[in-house]
Amino acid sequence: MNNSDNIYTLAVPGVQKLIPYTPGKPIEELERELGLSHIIKLASNENPLGPGKKALAAIETALKDLALYPDGNGFNLKLALANKYAVDMSQITLGNGSNEILELVARAFLTPGLEVVFSQHAFAVYPIVTQAVGATAVVAPALNYGHDLDAMLERVTDNTRLVFIANPNNPTGTLLSPADLEAFIQALPDTCVCVLDEAYCEFVGDGSADKSIAWLNLYPNLLITRTFSKAYGLAGLRVGYGLSGPQLADILNRVRQPFNNNMLALAAAEAALSDTEHLQNTIEVNAQGMKFITEGFKNLGLEWIPSAGNFVLVDLKQPAMPVYEALLRKGVIVRPVGVYELPNHLRITIGTQAENQLFLQALTEVLSGNV
Ligand SMILES: *Cc1c(COP(=O)(O)O)cnc(C)c1O
Repeated sequence: MNNSDNIYTLAVPGVQKLIPYTPGKPIEELERELGLSHIIKLASNENPLGPGKKALAAIETALKDLALYPDGNGFNLKLALANKYAVDMSQITLGNGSNEILELVARAFLTPGLEVVFSQHAFAVYPIVTQAVGATAVVAPALNYGHDLDAMLERVTDNTRLVFIANPNNPTGTLLSPADLEAFIQALPDTCVCVLDEAYCEFVGDGSADKSIAWLNLYPNLLITRTFSKAYGLAGLRVGYGLSGPQLADILNRVRQPFNNNMLALAAAEAALSDTEHLQNTIEVNAQGMKFITEGFKNLGLEWIPSAGNFVLVDLKQPAMPVYEALLRKGVIVRPVGVYELPNHLRITIGTQAENQLFLQALTEVLSGNV
């Protein structure tokens, strides 16, 4: 082969056309590009308090064993999760982030010709995992920026093998009620697996997000995904999990690699689960910060979408990219959401009080043309 572009024609068709996920800009990258220091990143919904003390201590203890392979079955972490949710260990699938669970379910259930239903403005990983395996994405229009479950159900056919729902949704922060969600799952044909992505469930104030666990016994086609990346402050370690009936978990576990969770991730996640104090602090800091930031929006005359997560979408009523770039020059990284068909919005992760203040100050300066 002497034309190096020819190699693209050898990739499977879905991959040929795949546009990869764009992550939030890393702090180091902005430092390199603009020579700035004191950068704050409110772009990837990470925990502004960092990891908890218990997780850090567990990592230190685990360091001495790094020459060994980790426990490929993640026994201790699964046991801790099984106890927390009163499920059987056979109902748990561990992933390298919950992102891996989304990939496993796509690989295990999809093939070209099958369809996947998800919502407009829903998490960007759903179209990617769908396309990577050559299946067809069917996008239902959003309702008030959130999932329109009726519109989704209308699009489910005999060919639909998967539906993805993010609750709360990223990037919009919208939340569905447990009653509506359960009615939707109940109405799905049993030829269709329902993935309920609950990456932000810990932030849902009224605890309604935990209602879904009880549905696992009723719907063998339900897969709930959760993560240690957001409320638990361990995004850098990559650990998430799926909860489902044991049969669905067995299928997912067949296609994962044998050591998909590293040893430090397993140890830290197990310890983090028992650190209720850190979780409580995280939830409180988020609630206070959400109030502070949205009050700031109100003072600036800006509208936002009420959010159940640790982030909020603000409507600038003008193209967001120039504002995003002006904020970057002030050392504040937030998230443009043009890829979500929301070109006038920015997504802001709730930070510490100091970070929230810096962000609002920078936004005020940028919007008043003082850039
Ligand atoms: C962040 C996020 C995830 C995945 O995070 P992991 O770090 O891979 O666990 C999944 N779903 C949504 C909606 C998210 O925002």
